[in-house]
Amino acid sequence: MKEKYKPLKVAFLGGVGEIGKNLTAIIYGEDILLVDCGSTFPDTNAPGIDLIVPDFSFLVENKKHIKGLVVTHGHEDHIGGIPYLLKEIPNIPIYGSDLALAILNHKLEEKRVNTAKLNVVKGFDSIKLGPFTVEFIPVAHSIIGAFALAITTPHGLIFHTGDFKIDYTPIGNSKPVDISTFAKIGARGVKLMLGESTNIEKPGTTISEKHVGKTIDKIFMANPDKRIIVATFASNVNRVQQIIKIAQKDGRKVAFSGRSMIAISEMAIDLGLMDVDKKDLVDVDHVKDYAPNQVCIISTGSQGEPMSALTRMANGEDKVKIQEGDLVVISSSAIPGNEKAIYTVINNLYKRGAKVLYGSLEELHVSGHACREELKMMLSLIRPQFFIPVHGEYRHLKQHAKMASDIGIKASNIEIAEIGDVIEIKKNKLQRLDKVTAGALFVDGEDNLSHDTIKQRKQLSNEGMIVVVCDVNAKMRTIRTPITIRTSGFVAKDEINRDIELTTLKLFNEQTDGKPFDKNAFEEVLKKRVARRITKFVQQKPLIMPIVVEMDEDANE
Ligand SMILES: [Zn+2]
Ligand SMILES: [Zn+2]
Repeated sequence: MKEKYKPLKVAFLGGVGEIGKNLTAIIYGEDILLVDCGSTFPDTNAPGIDLIVPDFSFLVENKKHIKGLVVTHGHEDHIGGIPYLLKEIPNIPIYGSDLALAILNHKLEEKRVNTAKLNVVKGFDSIKLGPFTVEFIPVAHSIIGAFALAITTPHGLIFHTGDFKIDYTPIGNSKPVDISTFAKIGARGVKLMLGESTNIEKPGTTISEKHVGKTIDKIFMANPDKRIIVATFASNVNRVQQIIKIAQKDGRKVAFSGRSMIAISEMAIDLGLMDVDKKDLVDVDHVKDYAPNQVCIISTGSQGEPMSALTRMANGEDKVKIQEGDLVVISSSAIPGNEKAIYTVINNLYKRGAKVLYGSLEELHVSGHACREELKMMLSLIRPQFFIPVHGEYRHLKQHAKMASDIGIKASNIEIAEIGDVIEIKKNKLQRLDKVTAGALFVDGEDNLSHDTIKQRKQLSNEGMIVVVCDVNAKMRTIRTPITIRTSGFVAKDEINRDIELTTLKLFNEQTDGKPFDKNAFEEVLKKRVARRITKFVQQKPLIMPIVVEMDEDANE
C-alpha cells in the first residue's frame, strides 16, 4: 500500500530578521526536528531584562512530535534558550559537539534543569531521528566543535550551514573540513539550503585565525617588560590556546580571569581540546606574586560587559589591580551596539595607567563568519534547488538572497523568512503557509515577563510615573481631599497637580452618582483621563498609577 503523502515544511521560530535566538523546526508530516535554540542579549529597548529567548508556544502545542534537537555549536545565540525550552518540554533528546554540550550542561546546572538528555556527536557522525537522518559536518567558526548539518528527509536533502567560515590554515586539533566536502554534499543534490548571512556586507574572505596569533606574538615580543592582559571571548578556545602558547614561549605564567573564561577553559582542558601544561597556569589570586614580565592574564570583557573581569579591572573593583605600565590587548571587535561600553572600559584603563591595544589595530581579531566570497563559494558548491537565507537581519537576508539569484538559483526558488513563517518545500516550488505563534520571551532572573511589563518598564524609564492616592469611603461615597499625588521621574508643576486633583474629584462624583462605588472601574477610567489631561500640559506619557484606599467609617475623622 502506498503511504499517504506528507508535506515537508520549515518553521522559522527565531534567528531570521535578527542575529540571535536561532530556532528552526524542520517538519515532515507531524514529526519535528529542531535545529538550535538560542538566546539574545537585550538592548536598551528592554530595561532590566537579563535575556530574550524564543516564544515556544508552537513547540509546546506539538511537543509529542518533537524527535530531537540538534545543536550546531556552543554560542549563546544557538544554545542560550535551551534551559527555558526544557522547562516547558523536559524530555527532548539533544545532540551536539563535546564543547557545545559541556557549555550547555554548565548552563543547565546553573539553572537547575536536570531533565536533559545530552548526546555528544563527533564530526561526520550520522544519527536517525524519526524520519530525519542528520550528518554533522565540522566547519571552521570562532568556537571549536561547530557543525554544518546535512539532513536527509523523505523529500530530499536539507543543508544547513550553521555559523561558518572557510579557514585554509586552521589551528587546533579539531580540524574543520576542506571545501571538497561541501562539493560532495552538493553533488548528492541538495533540495534546500539554509545559509547563514552575518557577514554578507563584508567583501572578500575572512583572515585565518593564525594571523591573530602572529599579531599577538609580535605584541608580546615588543613589550618584554610589561604585564600583559589579553581580553577575548571565552568560547574562542583556539584563540585562548594561541595566547597561552605565546605566553609560554615568552616564559610567562597564564592566569584566567572572569567566570566564563575560567569555566570554559577548564572544560576545554578536560575535553582535551586545549593543550596546556597545568604547571604553566596560576590562579588569578596569585598574579600579584609575579613580576610583570612573568605573567599574562587572559580575561573576559572584550565587549565591555558590565560584570566582566576587564570592566571590573578598569573600575578598580577586581582582584587584578591595573598598575602603571600594564598593557591591555583587546582581541575582539565590537559587536554593533557595544562600542560605547568598550570605549568606557578603555578610557578607564588608561586612567589607571595602562596602555590599551584594541580594535582593527593590525589583525587583533578575525570574524568567525564567512564574508561575501566564502558565502558565494558555499552557494556554488552546494547549488541547492531552493535557498532560504538565515542568521541575519533583514538587509543581510535580502543581500544573501540576491547573491543566490546572481549565481543562478531561480529567483522564485528563494524566499526570505520572518519569525513565525512556515514554508513548505514542494516538488517544484516553495510555498508560504499560515504563520504560527512565535516571537520573544523576556527573562528577568527566574521569571518570564510579558510584553506589557516591558512596555511599563520602558514607559517608567522614559516618561516617569504619577501615583494618585485616593482615600475613599465607599459606603458614604466620599473621598478625602486634598488628594495625595506623588511623582517619580516626572516633574509635576502645581497646575498639573491641581488638574489631576480636579479630574479625580470629577470622576469620583460621576462614578458615585446614585450607584455603588466600583474600585476597579474607577482606577481604569482615572488612568485614561489623567493621561489625557497630562498631554494638555506636556509632551509626556508618564505611567499613571491610581491607588484607591478604602477607609471604613470609623477611620473617617
Ligand atoms: Zn556562532
Ligand atoms: Zn550564531
